[in-house]
Amino acid sequence: MKLILFDIDGTLLDTSEVDGECYAAALEMELGLTLETGDWGEFTHVTDAGILDECFRRVRGRPPGPKEITTFIERFIDLLGRAHARDPDRFSEIPGAGDILRLLSRTSDCRVGLATGGWRASALFKLTRAGLPYRGLPLSTSNEGMSREAILSDCISKAGAKWPETGYSKIVSVGDGAWDVRTARVLGLGFVGVGDEATFEKLGVRHVVRDFRDPAAFFRLLDSASKA
Ligand SMILES: [Mg+2]
Repeated sequence: MKLILFDIDGTLLDTSEVDGECYAAALEMELGLTLETGDWGEFTHVTDAGILDECFRRVRGRPPGPKEITTFIERFIDLLGRAHARDPDRFSEIPGAGDILRLLSRTSDCRVGLATGGWRASALFKLTRAGLPYRGLPLSTSNEGMSREAILSDCISKAGAKWPETGYSKIVSVGDGAWDVRTARVLGLGFVGVGDEATFEKLGVRHVVRDFRDPAAFFRLLDSASKA
């Protein structure tokens, strides 16, 4: 039995750009902070909670309080809603993603979890708008942890609690970011990259798909994916 953990933005959904824009706009409105680069990789924890924590410390010299986090998330969701109203096509799935989730749910030797660096509210907003069949799957988000390691570990625990009879011969993380590769290495998980082969080659990743339009090819990679 395999456990497959999917990242969301850039992996199942083609939402990295609109998500980043809305997050940056929320930072500007709530904290008055303009990020100099669009490079999220410069942050210690590339997660919604981790980036907000680091930005608060930069600007105010302290971490955000619970109410400030709630206010920020509300602002962020409001901006995502406006962006969706302007252009719903920016909330599309990566081609074939919905079909892959449906196929995996019918595959007897696989279980699926979703592990994202985004907050729960924004993850649900995007998954719903894109029409992905996510209901019933273990979902771990920035609400459960600030680091990707904590979020993926939480998802593995949730899968263990949901399917207690199941032991996993292999856990494979599927992601699009350099931080996803790093996290899989730290946790000793298999890894399949979604995106550009050359970019992943530089990170030492050989199991890569552009999208999910060829389910057989993706399933072969899940079988052969070794530890990242
Ligand atoms: Mg991603």
